[in-house]
Amino acid sequence: MIIRETDLKDNPATNSSTLPVSNFIRNIIEEDNRVGKWSGRVETRFPPEPNGYLHIGHAKSICLNFGLARDYNGICHLRFDDTNPEKEEQKYVDSILDSVRWLGFDWGKHLHYASDYFDKLYEFAEDLIHKGKAYVDDLTAEEIRALRGTLTEAGKNSPYRERTISENLDLFRRMKAGEFADGTHVLRAKIDMTSPNINLRDPVIYRIRRAHHHRTGDKWCIYPMYDYTHCISDALEKITHSLCTLEFEDHRPLYDWVLDQLKDVVLCHPQQIEFARLNLTYTVMSKRKLIELVEGGLVDGWDDPRMNTLAGVRRRGYTPESIHLFAERIGVSKADSWIDMSILEDCLREDLNERAPRRIAVLDPLKVVIDNYPENSEEECFAPNHPQKSEWGKRVVPLSKIIYIECNDFMEIPSKGYFRLSPGVEVRLRYAYIIKFVNVVKNVKGEILEIHCTYDPETKSGTVGAEKRKVKGNIHWLSAKHAQQARVRLYDRLFLHAHPDAGGGDYKASLNLHSKKIITAYVEPSLNQVQPEERFQFERHGYFIADRQDTEPGKPVFNRAVTLRDSWGKST
Ligand code: ATP
Ligand code: MG
Repeated sequence: MIIRETDLKDNPATNSSTLPVSNFIRNIIEEDNRVGKWSGRVETRFPPEPNGYLHIGHAKSICLNFGLARDYNGICHLRFDDTNPEKEEQKYVDSILDSVRWLGFDWGKHLHYASDYFDKLYEFAEDLIHKGKAYVDDLTAEEIRALRGTLTEAGKNSPYRERTISENLDLFRRMKAGEFADGTHVLRAKIDMTSPNINLRDPVIYRIRRAHHHRTGDKWCIYPMYDYTHCISDALEKITHSLCTLEFEDHRPLYDWVLDQLKDVVLCHPQQIEFARLNLTYTVMSKRKLIELVEGGLVDGWDDPRMNTLAGVRRRGYTPESIHLFAERIGVSKADSWIDMSILEDCLREDLNERAPRRIAVLDPLKVVIDNYPENSEEECFAPNHPQKSEWGKRVVPLSKIIYIECNDFMEIPSKGYFRLSPGVEVRLRYAYIIKFVNVVKNVKGEILEIHCTYDPETKSGTVGAEKRKVKGNIHWLSAKHAQQARVRLYDRLFLHAHPDAGGGDYKASLNLHSKKIITAYVEPSLNQVQPEERFQFERHGYFIADRQDTEPGKPVFNRAVTLRDSWGKST
């Protein structure tokens, strides 16, 4: 099922932009608070693994976890789940911190790393051995897999399962001391090889890996597994509601099992609650695939404005507010679904429609000479900075004899219903005069070089009587001698198909080869001094942002964040 904007508009629960929309997790928290389960405490966490940049799916989880903490006077931790040293790097930690901050959330002093708990995790593993709840296994990974059984077939016990406590302790200590080669021994929880839930068939909780860890260096040669680490980290931080995506539902019995075994030493037992992950059309959401796009040179890095990473959408021009609006609008549920990209794009349009000052840009210029306009003369025209916000004032847009209009605002032989400039048809130059076509000048190849018009001096916008003469077309323009050149990158969706990785096919085959077009355009003179990350609506075109990396004083570079209307799949 794909959810589109129209579906959500029909749903009154998603229409409020002020009150948080209720959902099943809020209901659980409210019930917990009513019965005093956590004494009113709400403590959540966002637990990324620092093995890539965050993507828009993570934003759903961030907005959920930090949003709940905000709304219930609670706390949200940011915890790096860094148990996999081969894939994790400091640069990913830095980018994650940056993205969460950019979204406007503050973890205060609650910045944690699972690696901070390595000593405790080790101690608890010995505790499990003492309790007869863990054992060292000498089987290889393949042998363990072979004995694990299947969904329909029970697993078989390892021949090492019945080792004595002291033998297990000795072996585990020697694993830690580096006496064994990588992959030769593991520590496994002793649960039940016949459990219908495969996660409970004696899962591995420690393995030997001689890998340099981005924080603990070479201190450890054994590393705890995710399932074992995660629940204990939550408990040590006294998390109340541990929110994760649906694929962890089958891991919940293991989460609870570990904490139940350790209940005399770890006093808190958080509640794991699963929700549906965000699936967004026209993107791929897994970090592994995003890494492939970056490393394969298929995009211009992690923050390529076409990427659905938070660094990418930021550079594209998305605002934190538009992401919050999106997270609120899509809501939180237990049912997996697909969210249509247009919902995300509409959230940005809605936000920027309110907040972005209007400016004029001519992206595909056509030179127009106004024959009866005095040579060497110029005058000021006034354009509102926002059509609905008169308090934002007006700015001066200079007019002179030679102007640029958009190529597609002129048609020599107009098609039916075409109201812009064409022979015999008058149009208004927005904020200025009505002009009338005179003739067109072409080169030998028949290409248009310039067109000539006349203007009616009695029709200047904002002057008495100017509006008396009505014309259907209203086009934008820039004075040629005042306009500034700017590099503009027109971005489109990165993938051509709604579900690029459907059916396990090669998502790269669905890449949109025309998703980036770089042009030199003309913009208003004031935009020459634009600040990085300033956003504007270029009238009739869309929303644009001054690129945060490439914009320099006097050399603006704009990225198109989104067009004014959803034109995907329609010819323009
Ligand atoms: P990926 O599959 O993209 O590699 P991940 O789940 O491995 O993502 P983590 O760094 O482990 O990435 O995720 C941190 C948190 O973000 C987890 O709690 C995870 O459930 C949540 N999360 C990841 N992807 C999504 C998504 N698409 N929608 C909602 N939450 C997500
Ligand atoms: Mg993960």
